[in-house]
Amino acid sequence: AAAADENDVVVIGGGPGGYVAAIKAAQLGLKTTCIEKRGTLGGTCLNVGCIPSKALLHSSHMYHEAKHAFPSHGVKFSQLEIDLPAMMAQKDKAVSGLTRGIEGLFKKNKVTYVKGFGKFVSPSEVSVDTLEGGNTVVKGKNIIIATGSDVKSLPGVTIDEKKIVSSTGALALPEVPKKLVVIGAGYIGLEMGSVWGRLGSEVTVVEFAPDIVPSMDGEVRKQFQRMLEKQKMKFMLKTKVVGVDTSGDGVKLTLEPAAGGEQSILEADVVLVSAGRVPYTAGLGLETIGVQTDKAGRIEVDKHFMTNVSGVYAIGDAIPGPMLAHKAEEDGVACVEFIAGKEGHVDYDMVPGVVYTHPEVASVGKTEEQVKALGVSYRVGKFPFMANSRAKAIDDADGLVKILAEKETDKILGVHIMAPNAGELIHEAVLALQYGASSEDIARTCHAHPTMSEAVKEAAMATYDKPIHI
Ligand code: FAD
Repeated sequence: AAAADENDVVVIGGGPGGYVAAIKAAQLGLKTTCIEKRGTLGGTCLNVGCIPSKALLHSSHMYHEAKHAFPSHGVKFSQLEIDLPAMMAQKDKAVSGLTRGIEGLFKKNKVTYVKGFGKFVSPSEVSVDTLEGGNTVVKGKNIIIATGSDVKSLPGVTIDEKKIVSSTGALALPEVPKKLVVIGAGYIGLEMGSVWGRLGSEVTVVEFAPDIVPSMDGEVRKQFQRMLEKQKMKFMLKTKVVGVDTSGDGVKLTLEPAAGGEQSILEADVVLVSAGRVPYTAGLGLETIGVQTDKAGRIEVDKHFMTNVSGVYAIGDAIPGPMLAHKAEEDGVACVEFIAGKEGHVDYDMVPGVVYTHPEVASVGKTEEQVKALGVSYRVGKFPFMANSRAKAIDDADGLVKILAEKETDKILGVHIMAPNAGELIHEAVLALQYGASSEDIARTCHAHPTMSEAVKEAAMATYDKPIHI
């Protein structure tokens, strides 16, 4: 039996990976402690990621709709203003309510919460410099590293969170910048660019690669980029930032074509650096206990999430796989199930990805490019929201559903949706993929009318037969 002060499970990091692992462990009857240095639970996602960004995306969308869409719906008013402090306060209220909620869940499930910075002194002991001051050693039979990730810096670009901001600074700008330059056309850059663009910034996105969001299906990506351009977002692809001058009022970026060539200057009031994220394991003492990482700094784990050091596990953004909150949560549950002697399984091919712009883009499974590369014979079924009655009724009909199915068996290989609520619509497809469904399975399932979901049914019909409404 464990000594009174010894835990079955110690989790380092209280993000979606760590806090979910801790709650699940406690639910499985394991004595559990979670160590978090931030002072609040929920990690990157809740404090400076998913949640505050979605709050601002919603608020800015409301403003944008009021300005551009309400009149055509016959809703008129004489004055429309942005109250940025109130918008930020609403975001902060959402964040603080949710982080306190997790503290409540810890209490309910009897997870011990230690506030402080943890560092390995042995494979079963973590020394914690507590936020109150002082130090305590937390012992555990199993230790889960859930320390997440941090912003990837760009050489020569120093983030001051004022003129040159990371996503964290971009979530708390004190005023709407006239000109915002976003470096990196990944989902975080496009989401934050959308927020400020809707509130009035001129947004230019500079991207080294030839495409925005490289993981996206090519055909969907093209339409998506067109949508963003319609919203006045400008793109400079195949372009690199080679110099930054912050000496004047704003920022002057020196740009160069990715392949080399003539330089140009781009001026901005604020520059957002969103060129990716890297695992965060600084000061954790991985070297002390000999935990292996790969070239990208990600902790290597086996299929039970165990590192090369017995009893030490790792999950979430700190290990390979999609850097997404729901993936971290799945990792956390599966890892703890293994520790408790049960089976756990996470299939990274079934992890949906969503870009929460307007329209949203959501996908699961393979892109058409990936299916081609596999050499599988396939069929494509597509259905545009222009032909969907609900989308027309609400006058928000940009986008499509695209389904890829194996030609011979009709098994669904990938689903890509661009729609205002694609992030919700995708789950029917996730479930279908998880169950190994065929597109005919979706097509023969009764979908309520009038809903956007009917477009998923019609796209499924289009893979092996004909849709009705186009
Ligand atoms: P984290 O959430 O990073 O949590 C790790 C925690 O560990 C942190 O709180 C950190 O303080 C703590 N920690 C680190 N080291 C120590 C230590 N030595 N001792 C004690 N504590 C430590 N994902 C989505 O799925 N959907 C989204 O919409 C989405 N939007 C995002 C928007 C933005 C702007 C950003 C930045 C990210 C977004 N993400 C989104 C990604 C998501 O936030 C991450 O994938 C997720 O937070 C990873 O969870 P995690 O538990 O692995 O790590």
